[in-house]
Amino acid sequence: MANRMVVVARCAPKNHIPKKRIASAAVLPKVWRVRIISKISAMRRLGLQWRRAGRPVAFVPTMGYLHRGHLSLMRRARRVAGARGRVVVSVYVNPTQFGPGEDFSRYPRDRTRDQRLCREAGVDVFFAPSDAEMYPPDFSASAQEERLSAGMEGRSRPGHFRGVTTIVAKLFNIVSPTAAVFGAKDFQQAAVVRRMARDLNFPVRIVVAPTVREAGGLAMSSRNKYLTPAQRRQAGVLWRAIQHAKTAVARHPVPAARLKAAARRMVAAQSEARLDYVEFFDPETLKPVKTAAPGTRMALAVYVGGTRLIDNGEL
Ligand code: AMP
Repeated sequence: MANRMVVVARCAPKNHIPKKRIASAAVLPKVWRVRIISKISAMRRLGLQWRRAGRPVAFVPTMGYLHRGHLSLMRRARRVAGARGRVVVSVYVNPTQFGPGEDFSRYPRDRTRDQRLCREAGVDVFFAPSDAEMYPPDFSASAQEERLSAGMEGRSRPGHFRGVTTIVAKLFNIVSPTAAVFGAKDFQQAAVVRRMARDLNFPVRIVVAPTVREAGGLAMSSRNKYLTPAQRRQAGVLWRAIQHAKTAVARHPVPAARLKAAARRMVAAQSEARLDYVEFFDPETLKPVKTAAPGTRMALAVYVGGTRLIDNGEL
């Protein structure tokens, strides 16, 4: 049975935010309950119950170690769900989207803090399933998107998107959301998930929210925790490279090869950084373009020390 984290047990009201207050978690009622669910059956029951009652359900899938980027998705989910709606956040470090030698085992985890942040954000359900239930030993099915996932992250991390689409498909089936919110920080992931939802007829609207950044432009990421202060400064090069390309194309279209060379130089100038890939592509098809212009999307992956960081932006 789902256990509950009750902040102040006395007179706890139902989770309801008056319409005009939906946009801000800062005005939550003093007493807020977030339901903590780990069992798939309990989550499924609740999701279906809400569906039958005609309640909008906005879902934010995450791998936890929550930061302001995740919190912005929760706020967006609250707006998408509306006054009668419910917000579900899942925290699950999905093993099948990590390749061999990647950081699955050391990926940062802090369940207690994540639960607190979800409570403060006015989330209705914190869903954290177990590995044993998500992947029984004889698990043998998957969902795969085969076009948008071919390049960039898909090429660099074989099997990654198959893991992503499989876990997202499973979570959609368990939670039964009417909408799901993803971050533009993982632009290709959002495109792949949207295509999967369309092609496999999941009745869920995919919403993409903007990337939240630190003061110097570094995109917030749970993996930023791995960076030393010096590496963190160098990691700003991803954002700077995007800004450089953006400025260049604002004047006139520029061959992608020239912009790639510039990005390569900028990354090489950082002692601890190593470029994995940089790409300029059409934001709909994700196909690489030969000439970049305003509206073209740029994405890059860079190792800073041992940490692999990604970022992207519209030029
Ligand atoms: P993760 O926990 O890294 O798997 O991310 C969960 C969701 O949060 C994904 O949809 C990400 O795109 C999104 N996300 C991660 N970082 C950010 C950020 N800095 N700004 C906005 N969304 C983000």
